[in-house]
Amino acid sequence: MLDFLKNLGFKVIQHYKLFREIGEVIKYCFEWKERKGEFPYETDGMVIKVSSFVEQEILGAVSRSPRWALAYKFPAPEVTTVVKDIQIYIGRTGALTPVAHLEPVEVDGSIVSRATLHNEDEIKRKDIRIGDRVVIHKAGKIIPEVIMVITEERTGNEIEFVMPITCPRCSSPVYKPEGEAVTRCTNPSCFARLEGNIRHYASRDAMDIEGLGKARIEQLIAEGFINKDVSDLYDMKIEELAELDGMGLKSATNLVKAIEDSKDRPLKRLIYALGIRHVGEHVAAILADHYTGVEELSRVPLKELQNINEIGPKVAASIGEFFSRKDNLLLINRLKSAGVKVYEEKKEKQEEKQQIWTGKQFVITGTLPTMNRNEAKAIIESKGGKVGSSVSKKTDFLIVGTEPGSKLDKAKELGITVVKGEEFEVMAKENTVPQGMLF
Ligand SMILES: [Zn+2]
Repeated sequence: MLDFLKNLGFKVIQHYKLFREIGEVIKYCFEWKERKGEFPYETDGMVIKVSSFVEQEILGAVSRSPRWALAYKFPAPEVTTVVKDIQIYIGRTGALTPVAHLEPVEVDGSIVSRATLHNEDEIKRKDIRIGDRVVIHKAGKIIPEVIMVITEERTGNEIEFVMPITCPRCSSPVYKPEGEAVTRCTNPSCFARLEGNIRHYASRDAMDIEGLGKARIEQLIAEGFINKDVSDLYDMKIEELAELDGMGLKSATNLVKAIEDSKDRPLKRLIYALGIRHVGEHVAAILADHYTGVEELSRVPLKELQNINEIGPKVAASIGEFFSRKDNLLLINRLKSAGVKVYEEKKEKQEEKQQIWTGKQFVITGTLPTMNRNEAKAIIESKGGKVGSSVSKKTDFLIVGTEPGSKLDKAKELGITVVKGEEFEVMAKENTVPQGMLF
């Protein structure tokens, strides 16, 4: 591929090499780890790819990461500094995250003064105490990380870190489920969680509500305008807001208008804005493509979610968990009654027309004239059909390309309708039901 691009006159990277064996790849990476200063550019590592397109196709992808490419990062430069304090931060999920405040020090080109310690277990495992001299580096060139404590330099005055038993923001008890590393605040409407939720909901890539910065949200919570969840935003009145410190009539009017405008965002943004764990913008867009609205999504069985291309078991479980919680279902009801668009009308109509293969099982064999497997699969799924990997009694149609395998024999044996590759592509494009596919 690179040679091909180079021949076409594109500028390609100078250092690349094809290997037949993984041992050689590893050797090559280690060799360049020592010689990275010789590159005429800054680099933090190398990329290893499977070069055969056929094998790439077989390996496929998980969400945005292909299974056929891997980054090898060179170890980052390490420096030492002192842990001055360990403080607790609470995020959107209610997790209590201990963060080390460090004596500021330059690491790999920038000044570092804080490093997340992730959780209590991590601190115990590394035995990090306040006052310790520690070795730090930047993981992935970005995130400062404490690697280890230099125990030889301990004076005996170091203080062991103790996880608080109540939330530092709302004073509710915290809990750490058996077998889990993360400690969480038990209060579902903890101010810190609420604040994080609102910030995420209002962020540019989510519902894009201007005028809702961190300080403003804190104020709205402190003054009682927001006390349950993000739906409280839609109850705020201009006259009441205008009386707030530093607000005034103009800002209040603008804020309410910005909130009003957010009622009409595309479905994928709303799904992202809900802040379901592991559901980023990309996954949200996939879900919005598959379902007409949040209410439909909330009723989808776990198994069906897992069958969607690019949605793994972890993401599916997280979506299921989100919609199994009563407070989240209430939130969706409240958003709906506030006038937030929780479904997409246009798509509903389109889909009525398109769902012509609902409940039908397809199996594909051989090479199709113009489509690859994933494209064919996506089209079948978009029209309500399912794609299986082997022919069985449950199979409705076998789509046959060139060089079909043993699946064709099996299909004939079981009397399953066979659709030619060309025929399938025509009916996919024209959205028609071809001969032999009348149902
Ligand atoms: Zn709390």
